Amino acid sequence: MNFSIFIASFIQITLLSFLLLSGVSCALYTPDSGKNQVITTCNVPTDQSGTVSGHWQVTPIPMAFHQNDFQSNEISSMINAVSTWNNFFTASKNIKTLDGSTTDNPRLSTATNPAQSGPICDHGLVQGKSFSGNVVIYKLGQWPSAYPASAIALTSFCSISSQPYPAIYMALMEINYQNFFIEGQKNPDLESIVLHELGHLHGLNHSCEVTNKTGTPNCKDPNIDPSYLSASMYPSFSFDTAGMGEQRRSLGSNDESRANCLY
Ligand SMILES: [Zn+2]
Repeated sequence: MNFSIFIASFIQITLLSFLLLSGVSCALYTPDSGKNQVITTCNVPTDQSGTVSGHWQVTPIPMAFHQNDFQSNEISSMINAVSTWNNFFTASKNIKTLDGSTTDNPRLSTATNPAQSGPICDHGLVQGKSFSGNVVIYKLGQWPSAYPASAIALTSFCSISSQPYPAIYMALMEINYQNFFIEGQKNPDLESIVLHELGHLHGLNHSCEVTNKTGTPNCKDPNIDPSYLSASMYPSFSFDTAGMGEQRRSLGSNDESRANCLY
């Protein structure tokens, strides 16, 4: 069995309560072989009732890469993940939920990382019906000790109570270049990782968890819906013996059916 590293979502809400998910699990990857077309219907299954954390009331969400952090091939990989989400929503809803970057002309940001200098919720990005800033992706060469070392990336966000889902008004993404990606460390597939993190950005929690959590299936349940295991939002990624991470560069039917309920 391959060794798996858990990818955690780090959720920050206005009450400054934290939900920090970490761990190590073994997982077998089951391709979503039954999926041959875009899912256009909204469905959050009953056993996944707790797997939506919020949504943005304004779209498209402006994205940017922190200036001088990433090489062009890394930016291309991340833009591929952005395009995968946009292609899905274009086919499903005729909307684009993410904006701002093309491979030829990626949007760059000089904004310093607010997560490393105080409460991120002081830096709201939504003013009424428009955005005042970008959701920025940062490369962290030093991964804070407050974060789980096994997390490949973290998406942090702030939301306020709203119906039917909390309204997200701030988010950022940080990628762990201390414990991954660099010489001597495991090498995840960046496009797959960012595709997963963009799911968190849209408001999706993991399709299942390896620990018991209300409203969330347990990934180890032998009777679990197989589409939860093949989802981009599955909580862990496996690595081969050379340390290369698996590729999950497509959205699964469960990712799409849940996302359709949010936008
Ligand atoms: Zn995650």
